[in-house]
Amino acid sequence: MNLATNLLDTASNVMRSEAAQSTWVELAALDLIVVTAHRSPDGDAVGSVLALTHHLKEAGLNVEAVLPDRFPRNLAWLPGSDSIHFFEENPEATGELLGRAELIWCLDFNGPGRTGSMEEALRTSPAKKWVVDHHQLPEDFADHLFSDPACGSTCELVFDLIASWRRLESLSQASAICMYTGIMTDTGSFRFSSVSAHTHLVLSHLVGLGIDHARIHEQTFDQRSLNQVQLEGHALSDKLYTWMDFGVALIVLDLETLERFNYQPGDTEGVVNRALALEGIHVAIFAKESKGGLFKMSFRSTGDLSVRDIAAEHFEGGGHRNAAGGIYHGSTALSLVSHIESQLLHWFPRP
Ligand code: 5GP
Ligand code: MN
Repeated sequence: MNLATNLLDTASNVMRSEAAQSTWVELAALDLIVVTAHRSPDGDAVGSVLALTHHLKEAGLNVEAVLPDRFPRNLAWLPGSDSIHFFEENPEATGELLGRAELIWCLDFNGPGRTGSMEEALRTSPAKKWVVDHHQLPEDFADHLFSDPACGSTCELVFDLIASWRRLESLSQASAICMYTGIMTDTGSFRFSSVSAHTHLVLSHLVGLGIDHARIHEQTFDQRSLNQVQLEGHALSDKLYTWMDFGVALIVLDLETLERFNYQPGDTEGVVNRALALEGIHVAIFAKESKGGLFKMSFRSTGDLSVRDIAAEHFEGGGHRNAAGGIYHGSTALSLVSHIESQLLHWFPRP
């Protein structure tokens, strides 16, 4: 049995379907294809958009990569990242692309609302929307929905999609590097419970193409600025609240603190996981003030304890069982701390 067949045997069911396989033949007739992902794009969002864009371009198709807004600095080395159109920076020209596209691949998000200010342009575009995603509870906005919440990353699903097209032989290094990066960042470097034997088969295939995986880790994680490292140190020493009885930790960074360390987008990526790594902590919450009194929230949990429902019910958000997000309209950082403290008993069973 050849590797491609083997790989598809264990792939996500949604990508083993006739529907997935047949998308390939439909592509050839299209004049313009757009590939996009959610706002505040992370490694999986940028990685999956670039991986699919590379692959389709290499097949001779006319493809443009579009993101609602800019990605964190540590992803700028990704091959092809300089050809991405950012809606927020150029709404007219990018909106025109979305309007003219015949197909929009919507990667790594489960509803148009996740694209922020691009939502309207996405909704009103006459293009077909084909979704590849791994978030729970996808909204009904797609012409094709390839969703698998059990899968650890959208990049893994994009790989499976290309496998369903029987096109793994044409996978380029550029595409492979982008996929490897997205799988890596969405699985905490291959350690979350969502990682499966199939994930490792996919990674094996990507590494087998000769990509420099050690360099991918280094470029993504080991090029941090002094400000960024010191902001993290300050967050852990001065802005960390713990309630050990409940196994809950909270870090809150207000605008003043962020300015002091010259905060750049992406600088606090991973800080929430440092809180989760504390002995006895099963839920970590990270809050970052984005404009006066508005806090962007990140939730992480371990095991069966779901933070998705808390994010959805109390913070206008959602996500996955062990990684979710939302927003909080409060007055100050301290009022947020009090709010969380007052809700501990309601939200978290004592371990
Ligand atoms: P992060 O904490 O890394 O920003 O987000 C973790 C996960 O939570 C994301 O992958 C996404 O699924 C979800 N998430 C984050 N922010 C929001 C939000 O504002 N709304 C919804 N529905 N989900 C979010
Ligand atoms: Mn993802």
